[in-house]
Amino acid sequence: MRQPFVAGNWKMNGSRDSAGQLLEALVRDFQPNGAEMVVCPPFVYLADAMRTLRGSAIKLGAQNVSAEESGAFTGEVAATMLQDFDCSYVIVGHSERRQLFGEDDENVARKFMAATRLGIRPILCVGETLEQRDAGETETVVRRQLDAVLEAAGVHAFVDAVVAYEPVWAIGTGQTATPDQAQAMHEAIRTRVGEADGTIGDRLRIVYGGSVKAGNAAELFAMPDIDGGLIGGASLDAENFLDICQSAEKAGAN
Ligand code: PEP
Repeated sequence: MRQPFVAGNWKMNGSRDSAGQLLEALVRDFQPNGAEMVVCPPFVYLADAMRTLRGSAIKLGAQNVSAEESGAFTGEVAATMLQDFDCSYVIVGHSERRQLFGEDDENVARKFMAATRLGIRPILCVGETLEQRDAGETETVVRRQLDAVLEAAGVHAFVDAVVAYEPVWAIGTGQTATPDQAQAMHEAIRTRVGEADGTIGDRLRIVYGGSVKAGNAAELFAMPDIDGGLIGGASLDAENFLDICQSAEKAGAN
């Protein structure tokens, strides 16, 4: 039995005020009923978020982490610093980091390991572009992204990790993968990890990301290998995000 997982990736949105209001609404209205809820605000709001979330069931995550431990890396944030703010999770390998900030598979694997070394659970994002899907390369691309981390970190590092399948063409576009398309890739990811260790593969939480909304979450989460979602735009609205979380709880209970 895998605990449903829903994380909100706020990206570079909002202000200190709006972040505070969103968190307060989530803390007020979230009634935990089996799903794990995580919010990933921008770094500069982590301190406020840590204080607001104290005593609530909602966990805190970051959107990125440095692969380096400390030192002369201007603008970077180390895993130890995330630990200072009670971050339980960190997103690594988001397609925006890969595409806009030049992060490659090796870099992503190093970030994954920087997090797991300190007990911060990585949310590892993998996914293909539209060109790669059209060229029939979806499985090859996702497998390459996954293998880079499996080979560098070892399958045991996946015990506490979450994998997010996020087709790049579905992120922020309103074009969601169909439940069947998403399920096929989630199954492929589970099979790949399962080849390295069957138990870890079975227990691994694999969540879908890409234009998930309150209106389409239930049908996605009903698929057997979809254990929840990584939510961008819809996580900026408390009511929508809570609805999505409820869909994950219901799917987990079935
Ligand atoms: C994301 O940024 O990880 C994401 C899935 O965004 P959206 O839900 O807005 O497509």
